[in-house]
Amino acid sequence: MFFEEKFSKTIGILGGGQLAQMLARSGKKLGFNIEIFSEEIDPCSKNDANVTVSQFLYFQELDIFAKKCDFLTIETENIPINALNFLWKRHQDKMTFNPSFIEIAQHRLKEKTFANSIGITTAKFQKIETIAEIVEFFHQNGECILKTSTQGYDGKGQFRISKITDIPQKLECVEYIIEKLVPFEFEISTIATKQGSELQIFPIPQNIHKNGILHTSQVPMVCENFTENQITQIQKTANNYATTVAQNINYNGTFAIEFFVLQSGDLIFNEMAPRVHNSGHFSQNLCNVCQFENHIRAITGLKVLQPALLFQGTMLNIIGNDIKQLHNFLDKPNHLIHLYGKSLKIGRKMGHINIIE
Ligand code: AMP
Repeated sequence: MFFEEKFSKTIGILGGGQLAQMLARSGKKLGFNIEIFSEEIDPCSKNDANVTVSQFLYFQELDIFAKKCDFLTIETENIPINALNFLWKRHQDKMTFNPSFIEIAQHRLKEKTFANSIGITTAKFQKIETIAEIVEFFHQNGECILKTSTQGYDGKGQFRISKITDIPQKLECVEYIIEKLVPFEFEISTIATKQGSELQIFPIPQNIHKNGILHTSQVPMVCENFTENQITQIQKTANNYATTVAQNINYNGTFAIEFFVLQSGDLIFNEMAPRVHNSGHFSQNLCNVCQFENHIRAITGLKVLQPALLFQGTMLNIIGNDIKQLHNFLDKPNHLIHLYGKSLKIGRKMGHINIIE
């Protein structure tokens, strides 16, 4: 009976990229059927699920898709809020998240305002509408980063302003936020899975970005120049912040928060993702349970497992032309390769390797 109740059900994933692909594989492993709604014509998840290719704003198609599913979840926050609100009205019982949380996570200004409102420190920031405001912010705060408020990921839509001549001559017709540059020692993230009032937190990875794109995630964090006590304190603070965020969101599933760590050991919130996250991919091979499986468990009402680190190691992203170097890793038994099956494009995430140390 339990088998019929739980495992013959269908999970609908909005978005069809590699995160949907890996979610689908974890869902199938637990016996669920997977439906994917993708705006991309040839999504890399196409062999892992039944895929509907359409537009999020074609509500009729979205409705047909939702009717086929028992649970609705997302692999990206960049889904038009109107589409999510439409689903909320018609299929609220299947939704594993409230669109209001996704709306916050879509928008850097709202996200940082939210973090501050629950007592979590961010870089000093301000909404930007004119070039004069950028000039004034730069004069008052020194080096800073101008970012589009929405749609920015992997360093896209970001301009570092180190000197006055870096300030753009004109602004595109989109909303911007400006942030003071944070002199961080290193970056970390918390990956956690929320199910009702329960929260399971993964070991914290230390992340290195190159050109705004995640390059490596290492577990456990190494934290050069920090004492054991400081490292324990950093972990405690990060976990407390994840717990505070979890208490303030209407969402079930895995989510991530990225932090900057200062020399003092204090944490500065950078951004959050209402979904599984690239910096949590290490969990596939280094933990007893991965972020994808815990997400599937959380949204379907199965028990979410407590993550434990089985191996120390590093997740290395394969970006664009990196894939041409893959032969260097193919015969290494501790290099576990995950390829997404995408066609090669500069800057595109093609796969990742989990390296067991
Ligand atoms: P984001 O798209 O906001 O996650 O930014 C991508 C990367 O740019 C971050 O992981 C940091 O390495 C860097 N970055 C973004 N904002 C700041 C900031 N305010 N100060 C210093 N570095 C930043």
